[in-house]
Amino acid sequence: MKTVTLPSGVKVPALGQGTWFMGEQRSRRADEIAALRHGIDLGMTLIDTAEMYGDGATEELVGEALQGRRDEVFLVSKVYPWNASRKGTKQACERSLKRLKTDRLDLYLLHWRGNVPFRDTIAAMEELVAEGKIRYWGVSNLDTDDMDELYEHLDGERCQINQVLYNLTRRGPEYDLMSWARERRMPVMAYSPIEQGRVPADGALADIAAKHGVSPYQVALSWVIRDDNVIAIPKAARAEHVAENRASLDIMLDDEDLALLDAEFPAPDYKMPLEML
Ligand code: NAP
Repeated sequence: MKTVTLPSGVKVPALGQGTWFMGEQRSRRADEIAALRHGIDLGMTLIDTAEMYGDGATEELVGEALQGRRDEVFLVSKVYPWNASRKGTKQACERSLKRLKTDRLDLYLLHWRGNVPFRDTIAAMEELVAEGKIRYWGVSNLDTDDMDELYEHLDGERCQINQVLYNLTRRGPEYDLMSWARERRMPVMAYSPIEQGRVPADGALADIAAKHGVSPYQVALSWVIRDDNVIAIPKAARAEHVAENRASLDIMLDDEDLALLDAEFPAPDYKMPLEML
């Protein structure tokens, strides 16, 4: 498995697994758990979840999927912005740990920026690290100006990641956010890397897919992780999708492919506000 290095020096898989909308329907539960476990078997051992997903039901499902396998996984969860006060962050983390049936998170993210001052959330995150409840912390959905502000409160490279919406149809972060992160050796974690299954499966993606004998979604995923500083977390509740996603790591997009994709999905030439789902 290709890896990406966090500022702490820890290496994590370049391809992980998302979980949004899992655990919401009883009838799909067994398949979702099997899909996550299959992904772990294939080396996609970074699992991303959040207290928001399914109002806690997703974390419960992830906890079930990880029974007996917790140590194989780099587990990521997120705190709601309105819970991200000094006290609230710690309480939310305890609730997540309970639902996930574990004693620690590997990475805990502020889900998006709310009204709580950064210094309070950072203080709570650092206390959780000191207590061994989380190994590392990071943020999500923060644009470049927010990141500058966050860094004013930081002593060194404490923030491990910024998780943002990034895929072929959402290239905004390439304008300045991704270079900002690269300069600080902080990876970007790309969420909705295949635009929730809605990347246009015709045109250039279809042509390149036919050339490589893969699907357009695999090409779209391969494109996201072409960058060594990016981790992608596709969500797949079906085992066949999990296997296809893992196989996307083996696709070698060439210069011609990349030029075709650039023509159809141009890189931004002006700053646009960070999009979020
Ligand atoms: P996504 O991963 O881009 O797309 C998921 C959809 O694509 C599902 O419907 C899935 O179907 C389908 N799919 C997966 N692999 C496929 C394949 N190989 N071929 C065809 N279809 C495929 O969207 P996402 O779930 O929004 O994003 C991924 C994860 O990022 C989330 O689950 C969540 O963990 C995280 N996220 C974070 C934020 C944030 O604010 N920080 C926001 C959104 C998402 P099946 O499930 O039926 O297999």
